[in-house]
Amino acid sequence: MARRTFLGGAAAAAAALTLGCANDDDRGDEGTGEGPATTSGAPTASAPGPDLPGDPFTLGVASGDPLADSVVLWTRLAPDPFADDGSGGMPDTPIDVVWEVARDDEFTSIRSAGVVTARPDHGHSVHVDVTGLDAGTTLHYRFRVGEWTSPVGTTATLATAGTQRLALAVVNCQWYETGAYGAYRHLLDEDIDLVVHLGDYIYEYPAIEGDRATRPAHQVRTLTDFRLRYASYKVDEHLQAAHARFPFVATWDDHEVANNYTRDLVPGAPDAGEARTIRAAAYQAWWENMPVRGGPPDTGGLRVYRDFAAGDLARFHLMDQRQYADVPPCRANPDDTMDFGDCEDRTALDRTLLGSDQERWLGGSLGRGGVTWNILASPMVVAGVDAGSDQSAYYLETWDGYPRARERLLAQMVEADNPVILSGDYHQGMALDVHRVPHDPTSEVIAPEFMAPPISSVLFSADAGARNPHLRQQVDAHGYMTVEITPEALTTRFRVLDDVNDADTAIRTRGTWTVNPGNPTMTGA
Ligand code: FE
Ligand code: CA
Repeated sequence: MARRTFLGGAAAAAAALTLGCANDDDRGDEGTGEGPATTSGAPTASAPGPDLPGDPFTLGVASGDPLADSVVLWTRLAPDPFADDGSGGMPDTPIDVVWEVARDDEFTSIRSAGVVTARPDHGHSVHVDVTGLDAGTTLHYRFRVGEWTSPVGTTATLATAGTQRLALAVVNCQWYETGAYGAYRHLLDEDIDLVVHLGDYIYEYPAIEGDRATRPAHQVRTLTDFRLRYASYKVDEHLQAAHARFPFVATWDDHEVANNYTRDLVPGAPDAGEARTIRAAAYQAWWENMPVRGGPPDTGGLRVYRDFAAGDLARFHLMDQRQYADVPPCRANPDDTMDFGDCEDRTALDRTLLGSDQERWLGGSLGRGGVTWNILASPMVVAGVDAGSDQSAYYLETWDGYPRARERLLAQMVEADNPVILSGDYHQGMALDVHRVPHDPTSEVIAPEFMAPPISSVLFSADAGARNPHLRQQVDAHGYMTVEITPEALTTRFRVLDDVNDADTAIRTRGTWTVNPGNPTMTGA
């Protein structure tokens, strides 16, 4: 599936750079190996540039999926991001793009460089998996096409054994029309290494009229629609700045396809064939727009669940809770979008949320050991939330709708060292004790769960305190959370905005929780 970095004949000078650098594992340190001595602004791509109607870098740059020796660089060419046909204003031809990675943001010391082809059938996106990098290193990168140079992005590889600190921000639920991206503006000031995105990167709903109306106006269904919708989000200056500043590690939730979809059942689709078509378009556009390793999707879908380790400090396990999920319980008609309530078959029937392959992968990943912390990135709440008033009621697409599958998950977790859940989707921030038997507060606590508040999506403000004694804090606000991980402690802070509608709003900390190795019960307030 490796589709990166094949050379285009049109950029011979840049091809020479690639031969000197791209896959050379034993080259020397900066300035001593075959690394080309290019300087900022030098006309490396001497071949005539393509005839583009304007700056193709309107959607910014991004990096993602950092490892100790590699990181993925992303951009998508779109001189006219809102062109009705979803092409971004690009010609229907492949275009060669020069990429450069340097130690310094003036690009006087190029560490690695090459040429990648932006293909029309990939939405003119590029994903460059830059390999052979040094661990724990900050790097700068940029792209060039003809006369155009992209903004400069900053990224970093992960450290190896002995890492004393890794910090992240956890974000999710960024409905563009229901709030500004002040949260992303404040993210730039955080002392973090990477951003974990738990999904709902876009919303597929019809546009809402106003300053932040997205394209297209109707509900998103086709590849053209999805490309336009991503472009509408990606032009935001604060989202672009966050991507350019930090590597992202992303999974997805439901709104990347459609509200409440599971597997190939897409509510509102007229038939199964149409549902699969919508899902395929959604997966393709997600891949085109995210700085992820692997892909593109094929007819079998796209594997998004994956794990990676930051030295011996932490291993991250990213879950996909939609692509392989059984239909949630209590739906007389499987196409029902009802997602809240209770019924007998919630507990009576076995269902899978992850699918058997992903369950097996997770067991193996959690069982590998060798790290202090096991961080589970779960788009949806694991600890359980009884959201009823007079009687119990649950959001049935979350783990509460899959209690037998959750038993299997929790059994895997108790075998792992210091599991910690990071979740989202609920449009609230929460700190929750995960009990061995959810909703039974007499059973032992086996892990802490920290749920990130939404970046901008509408809050579900109902107070869940009365029916959920394991809910340690509920944060009814927009923002994100930071998670600082050291060998001695993991500390989560809820960072909340005063006013989601104002990109210049202030941010403050509302709740700081700490957990120490060997004790899954959090302390704080
Ligand atoms: Fe959401
Ligand atoms: Ca969701």
